[in-house]
Amino acid sequence: MELPHIDLITFSGQPQAGHYMNNHELMQDDLAVLWHPCSQMKDYEQSPLIPIRRGSGVWLEDYDGKRYIDAISSWWVNLFGHANPRINAALVEQLGLLEHVLLAGFSHEPAIRLAERLVELAPKGLSRCFYADNGSSAIEVALKMSYHYWRNTGYTQKTRFITLTNSYHGETLGALAVGNVPLYKETYAPLLMETLSVTSPDCFYRESGESCADYSRRLFPLMEQMLEQHCETVCAVIVEPLVQCAGSMRMYDPVYLSLLRAACDKYQVHLIADEVAVGFGRTGTMFACSQANITPDFLCLAKGLTGGYLPLSAVLTTSRVYEAFYDDYSTLRAFLHSHSYTGNALACRAALATLDIFAQDNVIANNRNLAECMRKSTLHFSDHPHVGEVRQCGMILAIEMVKDKKTREPFAWQERRGLHVYRHALENGVLLRPLGNVVYFMPPYVITEEQIQQLADVAWQGIQRATADI
Ligand code: PMP
Repeated sequence: MELPHIDLITFSGQPQAGHYMNNHELMQDDLAVLWHPCSQMKDYEQSPLIPIRRGSGVWLEDYDGKRYIDAISSWWVNLFGHANPRINAALVEQLGLLEHVLLAGFSHEPAIRLAERLVELAPKGLSRCFYADNGSSAIEVALKMSYHYWRNTGYTQKTRFITLTNSYHGETLGALAVGNVPLYKETYAPLLMETLSVTSPDCFYRESGESCADYSRRLFPLMEQMLEQHCETVCAVIVEPLVQCAGSMRMYDPVYLSLLRAACDKYQVHLIADEVAVGFGRTGTMFACSQANITPDFLCLAKGLTGGYLPLSAVLTTSRVYEAFYDDYSTLRAFLHSHSYTGNALACRAALATLDIFAQDNVIANNRNLAECMRKSTLHFSDHPHVGEVRQCGMILAIEMVKDKKTREPFAWQERRGLHVYRHALENGVLLRPLGNVVYFMPPYVITEEQIQQLADVAWQGIQRATADI
């Protein structure tokens, strides 16, 4: 796709005859003032930052004019490409009407229409929508709401949460506490509430010849035991349905979710489904929970909700939960949580435009072809001497590099094999951002079959290069 011509205009909007900023100049300016997320800033001495001038479809273009396919949807948020004309048009219209108004005591049409649409799309039984403004804050909302529900209904001893090992739910303190990836959590452990942790049904560890479904089923009794033992003090179990994304894209079978739903009902514990990353078609269905035919008590959505345009999140819940808070002011039962930008009008409008694209373009069905193309283009990866597994769930495909193919011994993290793949991919016009030793594709849904092939070729060469010394 061709990117449109851009005039010589600096970011401040002032034309500057004859002077383009280039990558190097912008990087210098950046490093003088910015502190980047998920970064050891010293790394930028070796791996230069890439300032992006513009985007179009799957493409990002830097200030030197080099282009990259955004194979990871800019941290899994982008669904229909950068600078999508339909989302742009909706936002331009919304800008002329209303950019934002507080959502306490006031409302606006985009927030109302979006809540209606989400309730309609979500698993049956979720009838209330509470907005926040990013994935982590959606998790905070769900945790607080669950706890507060039990408190309002007289179960004051319920204060704890059950989580899976290898899970990730964000990095604010509550969300970090219910996550389990040591890299993000260990440093801050003294600041975090304690949780009960159950071994993940992560199918990477199934026996050879064992199906994912069998393994997921085999692991479930650990969860059942935890629930049985602690249900009186537990508010909720929180899971990432089907794919533990930040936990190296590890996957499990829907049967685990069905068993979990039944057990949560049996032991009177809520189920929180964190679909911040896997929602909106990533796993092949609009929401991952539908593959197990379950309705969680809380469904957390963010990332793709606005098509990757603006920060917005939503927590959907049941009328049963809602009603436990609905009372006279003086009973002090109201839910206490607010962010200044809750339900921002521009973000809601971007989300509505995103849902329109889903509805008009038959996206979920078309994605099946793309998913199949991703599968076929990486079939040969399984034969690579340093690939331990290629796994896929819908539009998420992950390739796990290992030191020893037989024992699946991982490469030491200090070797930073993934970083070699990252650098190789960038040189070759692809943005891949491996999670440790795991190279993955989670592209925008506007990617073409040729572009998928290009991702596969670049990933293959990158893995070759990253493992060439052994
Ligand atoms: N939950 C999951 C499953 C996620 O993958 C993430 C982000 N990667 C979050 C929560 C947190 O979302 P945010 O980064 O918007 O705070």
